[in-house]
Amino acid sequence: MAEKALVLAEVSEGELRNVSFEVIAAGRKVVGDNEVVALLCGDDVSAFSETLIHHGADRVILAEHEDLQNYTTDAYKQAIEQVIEAESPDALLFPHTSPGKDVAPRIATKLDSGLVSDVVELEVDGDEVVFTRPIYSGKAFEKKNVPGSPIFATFRPNNIPPLEADSSRTGETSEVAVEIKDLRTVIKDVIKKTSGGVDLSEASVIVAGGRGVKSAEGFEPLYELADVLGGAVGASRGASDAEYCEYSLQIGQTGKVVTPDLYIAVGISGAIQHLAGMSNSKCIVAINKDAEAPIFDIADYSLTGDLFEIVPLLTEEFKKVKA
Ligand code: FAD
Repeated sequence: MAEKALVLAEVSEGELRNVSFEVIAAGRKVVGDNEVVALLCGDDVSAFSETLIHHGADRVILAEHEDLQNYTTDAYKQAIEQVIEAESPDALLFPHTSPGKDVAPRIATKLDSGLVSDVVELEVDGDEVVFTRPIYSGKAFEKKNVPGSPIFATFRPNNIPPLEADSSRTGETSEVAVEIKDLRTVIKDVIKKTSGGVDLSEASVIVAGGRGVKSAEGFEPLYELADVLGGAVGASRGASDAEYCEYSLQIGQTGKVVTPDLYIAVGISGAIQHLAGMSNSKCIVAINKDAEAPIFDIADYSLTGDLFEIVPLLTEEFKKVKA
């Protein structure tokens, strides 16, 4: 068993990302009764420390600095490295999010350690931790055991079940003064391209549209369905290339990788590059007018027909269930 896991928690748009709780749960598995320390970097993030403790962290370290308000490689790398040096954890567990994916390999290089990225499952057997990660665009899984210390892994959102919040848990919170210098990037302003709502990579329900949706207006019914289900809207590259929606919604090999509980593919043919981003979804519903569309090969529920008829019907029915 590892003695101390340092877990990177993440705040986005003023809210703790769920993946923080998932990585804490992974940390608990790796250390057993030993210590899980959550590290939170930001400008004004102390309000989140209690929630991290309720979800399983034994201790929270706050690295607060104005240069950590938004993620930049240099600032976060410096802050995290200073905390690692002070804490000497023997396990480092980060979210496999844009910041986590960017900073983890740089830190691994500095530490001269291995790194298992995009982990979806882990098993602990005595001192051995075996990580499972998808390979060949999600067509197969490999099990990896990285000998040596520290154990270092990034975790794909929506795969490790978080621990149930326990409001009676208590733990220590400390602030660490980090020194940040020589920044090569300075963020002056953040302009959001997509409208608010549920974050695609953490959404438990995704309604994704393809070229079959035919226009930006054609996406409107998908937003309505996603809204009723409390989900997010995604897209195929066919749809984003055709400018029916923002590129940031693209799912697949060259887009986001998602693992929601429910993925509704609307007017998407099911090209291999699209499947690479969503085939590990827990339940896949496909709506397509072509009964031979490859998306039906991986769908749990196949609806053959016109999406412009089916999607509004689904929205109406779900509204009734919710009422
Ligand atoms: P299409 O293949 O055109 O499918 C449209 C579907 O809509 C059809 O199946 C049709 O039957 C159905 N349809 C049409 N009208 C209706 C209707 N009224 N009702 C119901 N169904 C209807 N793609 C991605 O998605 N993500 C990626 O990350 C990605 N990366 C790529 C990387 C590379 C290097 C390459 C070469 C390609 C990549 N692609 C990616 C593109 C991919 O190969 C496909 O071209 C793309 O996924 C097709 O998008 P689509 O399914 O929306 O469109």
